[in-house]
Amino acid sequence: MSRQLRVAIVGAGPAGVYAADILTKAEVEGLGQVSVDIIERDPTPFGLIRYGVAPDHPRIKEIVKALKRVMSNDAIRFFGNVSYGDDLKLEDLRQFYDAVIFATGARRDRDLDIPGIDLDGSYGAADFVYWYDGHPDVDRDWDFQPHAETVAVLGVGNVGLDISRILAKTAEELLVTEIPDNVYEGLKKNATKDVHVFARRGPAQVKFTPMELRELSHSPTIDVIVHPEGFELDEGSLEAIRAAKSQKLVVDVLQNYLAKEPSGAPHRIHIHFCQSPVEVLGEDGRVVGLRTEVTELDGTGNVRGTGEFKDWPVQAVYRAIGYYSDNLPGLPFDVNNGVVPNDGGRVLEIDGSALPGVYVTGWIKRGPVGLIGHTKSDAAQTIDLLLSDLDSLEAPETTEREAFDRYLDSRGIAYTTWEGWERLDAHELGLGETHEHQRERVKVVPRDEMVRISRA
Ligand code: NAP
Repeated sequence: MSRQLRVAIVGAGPAGVYAADILTKAEVEGLGQVSVDIIERDPTPFGLIRYGVAPDHPRIKEIVKALKRVMSNDAIRFFGNVSYGDDLKLEDLRQFYDAVIFATGARRDRDLDIPGIDLDGSYGAADFVYWYDGHPDVDRDWDFQPHAETVAVLGVGNVGLDISRILAKTAEELLVTEIPDNVYEGLKKNATKDVHVFARRGPAQVKFTPMELRELSHSPTIDVIVHPEGFELDEGSLEAIRAAKSQKLVVDVLQNYLAKEPSGAPHRIHIHFCQSPVEVLGEDGRVVGLRTEVTELDGTGNVRGTGEFKDWPVQAVYRAIGYYSDNLPGLPFDVNNGVVPNDGGRVLEIDGSALPGVYVTGWIKRGPVGLIGHTKSDAAQTIDLLLSDLDSLEAPETTEREAFDRYLDSRGIAYTTWEGWERLDAHELGLGETHEHQRERVKVVPRDEMVRISRA
């Protein structure tokens, strides 16, 4: 390729930033430094690290340090507050770039089609996470009800753990984190004393990771209580434990909790196995309970219903049954799996042919599973394919780097830049420093305020 390769990456979460890193370090004969523009709907970079990782997980947020080093590369530019689909579409990007990589992740809750799921007091975990992480596009207030002392969490993945922990901790415990002031004020209204977490299968089939499960008991205000009903390890479970060390570790931690006497802490997280949610029960439009069907393991890692049902008096239900990606305009979409159909990252049309110059990486490519680190190998695979397609990539109308900036300006799009993020970052750190409780950071929440500070 004789011209400089220009690539747009849509999404500035870890998947997008890792892809930019690999691309700009690529050594291909005849190919100079690749130029990358990352386009992001949020005014800020880092996607789910800022708006997905729980505030009491600062260790995971440390990944930002590595991502910042990547973004300081002059070959990579950041355009925040630009929404793919609303502000621009694929044909617009094609004017400026040889290739487009979508790394838009998954930000919505997967639907759970059971009666009562739309009652007041029934929530999606993603919405709650966005609220406590201070995402600009959600309401500032969470609907905590003063009588909601007992709540249900559906799903036994790490998101289920995150929201159970945040619900069971006190607002004061979370004040040391970067939660925005409105979240701290909101959490003071959280009346939760008992969180009941429901697994539809057995202990060897949970999706928790051992460290996160162990950490659940580190709060002095929380007792973790594993209930013995349904705590069964059949042949399929033993097989799963033998096959994966992490699964064995998780079962060990659960067994420790099972054997432990509660300490009398004021809040409790209960974990129940072999209970499949079948209905959210309501009265006057609000949640008053959850009905589950008792299940039994069938020897293969799956379960079957027993026909026995249980009603649990709970005043709120949070479903943490997985995320789901947005259907991106101009791209094919697999509604069953919530991903863009692709072969190793090359986007495929419905007829199986490749959509030229269009790639995916991260959760939009392989579904909403896996830890942040997994997106690295994923990005490497996508970039390998992109580089092997170099000769067939169609040249954009313009190869001038600043043409895209002018295009956004001409459309009146108030985009934020990397320098703008550094300004906002410094501002948030400053708010933390001068806060009466001396906090590391206080997040700015309203979008217009973030944009104003970034563009100052
Ligand atoms: P997940 O790990 O896929 O867990 C989803 C859970 O929902 C599973 O237990 C699943 O049970 C259950 N579920 C699905 N459909 C259900 C239904 N109809 N009824 C009842 N239960 C249902 O998803 P996630 O928790 O959203 O996490 C996504 C990824 O992010 C994971 O890789 C996770 O490790 C990662 N993450 C990591 C952290 C961290 O702190 N390290 C924090 C958050 C997220 P089945 O297995 O039976 O389907």
